[in-house]
Amino acid sequence: MKNFSDYKSEISKCSKCGLCQAVCPVYKETGNECAVSKGKFVMLDGVLRGDLRLNKNINKYLDLCLKCGKCSEFCPSGIDVCKIFETAKYEYVKNTIFGKIVFFLESKLIFGSIIKMFSQKRDIKKHDGGSLKIIYFKGCVGNIFPQTAKLLENFSNIEIIEKDFECCGIPFLSSGNLERYEEVKSHNLELLKGDYDFILTDCASCESTIRGYFEKDNCPKFINLGEFLVKENIKFKSKKHLKVTFHKPCHLGNADFIKSLIDNCENIEYAEMENFDDCCGFAGEFALKNRKLSKAISEKKAQNILKTGADYVITTCPSCILGLKQGLSGKKNAPKVLSLSEFLTKFDNYFPSSQAF
Ligand code: SF4
Ligand code: SF4
Repeated sequence: MKNFSDYKSEISKCSKCGLCQAVCPVYKETGNECAVSKGKFVMLDGVLRGDLRLNKNINKYLDLCLKCGKCSEFCPSGIDVCKIFETAKYEYVKNTIFGKIVFFLESKLIFGSIIKMFSQKRDIKKHDGGSLKIIYFKGCVGNIFPQTAKLLENFSNIEIIEKDFECCGIPFLSSGNLERYEEVKSHNLELLKGDYDFILTDCASCESTIRGYFEKDNCPKFINLGEFLVKENIKFKSKKHLKVTFHKPCHLGNADFIKSLIDNCENIEYAEMENFDDCCGFAGEFALKNRKLSKAISEKKAQNILKTGADYVITTCPSCILGLKQGLSGKKNAPKVLSLSEFLTKFDNYFPSSQAF
């Protein structure tokens, strides 16, 4: 695990070009220069030079971040922004009373037991010797709501491998609990050893976090639920004509599957919303610590959703579901917000293409 001071040269790569300001949802909403990576790097550089103290004020600005990674994508200096913020946060929070309480609540004993308590035990029927071997990373929410497991049970030609994974670690990265993140990472990495074709996820945040366990050229292949259903050419059929729109989570690398997936759904029309990849404004801890701001970003998103006139808005991240619900709350004619698997399992008939209809 790297120390904050190890990022000195990375932080100095920031040329203060300000391109991150054009894409940062927090900066767009607040116009506050300390809220975007450029401003945060000025402060963190000051800390590493000994001119500033890493204190509660700087931590407040570290918390003013959705960890959406949009600034990293656009940064011409290629800075891994979120890694630096997480490490700086750990450096500050580990020695505070509040941090110690949070770290205790996030321990395996407490956090792990709460997830276990709410989990519904649903082992997917084993189909050994299938043409594809897929490791299914359920994630915490997948353990509680087993719709994806219900869908996957239909694939007798595929070997779905389930393992006793812990949380991917994204809540711990957000809270600065890098010790706990390292713990779940090494547990999960051990279980990801072996022979398989893909890791399947139905949560964009889980997938991007697990990808972060690996070096880029050493990363196993991933497939998300939507891509998998398109690859297998699965058809769905709704009795009623429905209009759906899709919110692309910030952590979802590629949303190309969505149009093909909806094309495979009889009686369902796809209505793309304007800026479908704009952040929903939630991001777990961010919404708790910055309630007004989080709501304002969610409300903007909600306006684009409402313009589509959709019956459903679907997405592939549990945190985004909360953000979309937050923005749409109290709005007239608001569509229902569902995860992709919740939406698809509403239909009685879903089949591999050879058996469809
Ligand atoms: S885009 Fe990158 S280099 Fe430019 S100001 Fe933002 S963080 Fe610095
Ligand atoms: S990660 Fe997102 S919210 Fe945070 S500074 Fe970058 S663009 Fe802004």
